[in-house]
Amino acid sequence: MTAEAPQDGSLLLRDALLPDGRRADVRCRSGRIERIAPAGSLAGGTGTADLGGALLLPGLIEGHIHLDKTLLGTGWVPHVAGTGVAARIEAEKSVRRSLAIPVSVRARQLVEQVVASGTTSMRCHVDVDAELGLSGLEALLDLRERVRSLADVELVAFPQSGVVGQRGVAALLDGALRAGAEVVGGLDPAGIDGDVAGQLDVVFGLAERHGAAIDLHLHDPGELGAFELREIARRTRASGLAGRVAVSHAWALGTLDDRTLGETAQALADAGVAIMTSAPGPWPMPPVKRLVEHGVTVFAGSDNIRDPWSPLGNGDMLERASLIAYRQGFASDEDLELALSLASGRAARALGLADDHGVHEGAAADLVAVRATCVPEAVAAHPVRALVVKRGAIVARDGALCA
Ligand SMILES: [Zn+2]
Repeated sequence: MTAEAPQDGSLLLRDALLPDGRRADVRCRSGRIERIAPAGSLAGGTGTADLGGALLLPGLIEGHIHLDKTLLGTGWVPHVAGTGVAARIEAEKSVRRSLAIPVSVRARQLVEQVVASGTTSMRCHVDVDAELGLSGLEALLDLRERVRSLADVELVAFPQSGVVGQRGVAALLDGALRAGAEVVGGLDPAGIDGDVAGQLDVVFGLAERHGAAIDLHLHDPGELGAFELREIARRTRASGLAGRVAVSHAWALGTLDDRTLGETAQALADAGVAIMTSAPGPWPMPPVKRLVEHGVTVFAGSDNIRDPWSPLGNGDMLERASLIAYRQGFASDEDLELALSLASGRAARALGLADDHGVHEGAAADLVAVRATCVPEAVAAHPVRALVVKRGAIVARDGALCA
């Protein structure tokens, strides 16, 4: 895949509409935004694109994807029924064993699809279990080097079948972090392992030993889930991991009474634990505004895309922001800007990318242009992406990767 990189390393984006409403020329050089000046005032370099007043946003951030699970590239695979997390895990294994197309091919197709829709950085959970070992992780470690010109991929070693209930998984997670995963995952310490302290001991122990971040899947409901969230917050404070711990889904937050929700949200905020939501279909969803009011970093992810867990999804983070707005009853411009921030500035904070993120001089030249007149319209309409720029090079135009 070749990007349209000018020979002198510069790229001039003419006549962009900035999120604050200004019309500007934006010059990128050496992977960064070098200069922003009023539209028509900067001279062209060897690479130029006229945005014609399209809205220019920071590259979108996918906070939770499973590249290894996707069935893209295999033809249509009918969904196999299974109710509950444990049943779905078994259904997935039976589908996985029948696949002839390797992870590297399926995952690459999904990377290319999400990049064409404006995602320039992503956090990818990759299954680590007794059957797969580290094979999925090794495939994605290799893939992320090959797609480096398109997107940054952070890898989470994800124990999809549990941690303490599965012989050898703790050692596999240790091996995954040594091999190059930056984040250690977890899954329903109560619901899957039946041992909250046991799973969290392993996960936090590995994070401390390897200097890794943490991102746990948590579907456990109600008061049980809330207890686990407060326990994760307590351990985050105790281990000095503030800002490095996230909980994905946290469905429990969508069902708590007002007082318990307030106490749990404040514990998460005080500890620096972020919450990822995907606007999860029929399941309870964390109340985004309430968490933000408490100071919790909330961010967004697609989760399953065309895989054994869901036949739906496309990895378009503007569409995901729209789905989040729909689920949360967001309607005002301020609300829709909040929805986008979950796949932009707030996601950057959750993933430790905030220093480089934004449309300002010195920021990473990871950008997406959308034909919309403002951020709320971009969320509502989520039109085809006019241009996607990664590290200062054009990687996609009009919704398709550059050849
Ligand atoms: Zn997930």
